[in-house]
Amino acid sequence: MAVPSRVYQVAVPTPLYRSFDYLVPADVVVPIGARIRVPFGRRELIGIALKQIADSEWPRHRLKPIVQVLDNEPLFPETLFKLLQWASDYYHHPLGEVMHAALPAFLRQGRSTCANTSTHWVLTDAGKNIDRQIFRKAPVQLRLYEIFLSASNGLDASRLKKISLQWSTIIKKWYSQGWISSEQREDLSEPRQAGIAASPSPQLNAAQQVVVDSIIQGLGDFAAYLLHGVTGSGKTEVYLCVIEQVLARGQQALVLVPEIGLTPQVIERFAKRFHQTIAIFHSGLNDQERLNAWLAARSGKASIVLGTRSAIFTPLKNCGVIIVDEEHDASYKQQDGFRYSARDIAVMLAAREKIPIVLGSATPALESLKNIRDGAYRLLELPDRTGGAGMPSVKLLDMRRLKPSDGLSLPLREAIGVRLAKKEQSILFLNRRGFAPIWMCYDCGWVVPCRRCDARLTLHQKKQKLLCHHCGAEQEIVRRCGACQSEGLHALGEGTERVEQALQNFFPHARIERIDRDSTQRKGALEEKLRRVHAGEADILVGTQMLSKGHDFPNVTLVGILNADQGLYGSDFRSSERLFQLIMQVSGRAGRAEKPGEVLIQTWHPDHPVFSALQRHDFHGFADLALNERRETAYPPFSHLALLRAESPAPGAALKFLHEARNVAMQLSRAESVQIMKPMTAPMERRAGRYRAQLLVQSVQRAPLHVFLRQWVAELAEAKFAKKARWSLDVDPADMY
Ligand code: ADP
Ligand code: ZN
Ligand code: ZN
Repeated sequence: MAVPSRVYQVAVPTPLYRSFDYLVPADVVVPIGARIRVPFGRRELIGIALKQIADSEWPRHRLKPIVQVLDNEPLFPETLFKLLQWASDYYHHPLGEVMHAALPAFLRQGRSTCANTSTHWVLTDAGKNIDRQIFRKAPVQLRLYEIFLSASNGLDASRLKKISLQWSTIIKKWYSQGWISSEQREDLSEPRQAGIAASPSPQLNAAQQVVVDSIIQGLGDFAAYLLHGVTGSGKTEVYLCVIEQVLARGQQALVLVPEIGLTPQVIERFAKRFHQTIAIFHSGLNDQERLNAWLAARSGKASIVLGTRSAIFTPLKNCGVIIVDEEHDASYKQQDGFRYSARDIAVMLAAREKIPIVLGSATPALESLKNIRDGAYRLLELPDRTGGAGMPSVKLLDMRRLKPSDGLSLPLREAIGVRLAKKEQSILFLNRRGFAPIWMCYDCGWVVPCRRCDARLTLHQKKQKLLCHHCGAEQEIVRRCGACQSEGLHALGEGTERVEQALQNFFPHARIERIDRDSTQRKGALEEKLRRVHAGEADILVGTQMLSKGHDFPNVTLVGILNADQGLYGSDFRSSERLFQLIMQVSGRAGRAEKPGEVLIQTWHPDHPVFSALQRHDFHGFADLALNERRETAYPPFSHLALLRAESPAPGAALKFLHEARNVAMQLSRAESVQIMKPMTAPMERRAGRYRAQLLVQSVQRAPLHVFLRQWVAELAEAKFAKKARWSLDVDPADMY
């Protein structure tokens, strides 16, 4: 008689808040944490085995057998496996989706973890024998050909990309000529060099030494450090020294950086210091490269894992330290789907792994400062810039008295002129791309609206289009007013394109680089622009917040902030915190030891306390002020928030859903320990054709909030009315819209 099947709980990637039970034949081995292919409705999905259970609450005949076991060992190390379960609980997001979000795409699709291969191109015999004269007029092809001749194992996409950005066109052409063939080959790791430090580290200064010593002392145990030090105070150097010690112990390091912080400069700094395999996770990787990096981290082949937000889910064989650079950065919070905070998960991971975590920033988040005050984190400080460089002087330009021309006041233009004469560089920061944010009829005041959003279209002159910055909609430039038919349409206000143009008029000989999402879309464009800046081939940089992080421009001595006030009166309670952080970051680009920097801020509100704190470089003064305000208004970090968001193409449906969700909430047993606000429409109600609304839940204590949320989400997941709108819960929301 056949041995009966066993029952396993499986996390399946569906929006449902529960796991599913499946039958596993008696002779099939299922490691916990392995991927299993299971039937689901009419489809097949890839789930993760959670545990074997004695019996299902469902009758046996309703359970389906699994289709296939994909792994013969768990995919995640045990701590990560447990951490994901914790994250699913904490963010109230379905476990199956959480686990899927943690995997590289190839593994989500069921690829094997063994086949660490990628397509390599090799020269065919015909290819080896071609006459190089063919490339006489094609220097790039000639160079590529010579590299091919010396690459006996062939070249894969990641190598080719580094040689030329046109590689794929060339490869296609050569392939069709029969000069090269392609094969799947195992990726050879970079050879490991003897010794750990490849380039020598500078002698640490006294403050750095104190910081490094305190962290090193605690290796092998959990501790959370907040490393507070202005830009250029040597934080990165501290990370590198700590990592060196960790590697010497035979362990790995996990380093998280903000989305726009992962610049070629940063990667190069790590690569230069450590001649070891570094697994780098960034948005430019293809699926194969991402899987390879993931596998290298898991096997221990990669000593350092360096990446943005999602790198937190990389399994490391033996992690010894976690570093989160610019810990206050908003990009650590995932803004859709599984809305986690990579920084907060990183702290939890360090605690579970019993290793130190270093959170670095020039402008720590108020949440982190509160953790210092509560004794949960330890504060380490680097008070001065390295090499004796002073802080830049900060001056406010009172725009009530100064008439700007295309957004530029006279004193700012003069300051730029002085830099041009001295052959120094200037940065102008403006958090708005395009030419002008408003395209308006001067006869009647009509502005071109987006058809799908409650927003105006931005004029992009280079593209000759009107664009919506909220939904991406694009249309031809309207030449006739939609209300009065007048042809007197004008561009109002300024974006980076307009400032660039104005600068070119004021300073016809200046070399100007614009750095924003539009000007850097083409692959390699940003790198090329940065190279020109570093090589001294640019005089003025105009850009958005892409400019604010990770770059070190030694010859920049002037930073101009054009529309600082934008952040002062935002609808979000974090607006002024963000503004302070941003200006500090941008200001940090200015000035080095030999050449002191100057920051000019154009504002209509020179008396605002944010600006006086910035002038004094007084982060703690600002933080005290902001923390008091938060305490009085009972906002985080003095309370905990969750935001239930809803949207629907039908007007009113989202709001109606939230009212019903609120009724459900009020009846839950824990409702009295949390504050349930009234549903409100989102600050911009309609976006991309959907009407949006939100409901805020607040609690001074974390624990009762989560007990409440668990019950609430369980009810909503089953409720009929909840099918009428698309909804999601955001725990610890970073943005309030
Ligand atoms: P941060 O990460 O705080 O912005 P960095 O570590 O990048 O600071 O240091 C700023 C600059 O100072 C870098 O060019 C770095 O190489 C240099 N530097 C850092 N520490 C030292 C040191 N102890 N001696 C000399 N130069 C240093
Ligand atoms: Zn009009
Ligand atoms: Zn739109």
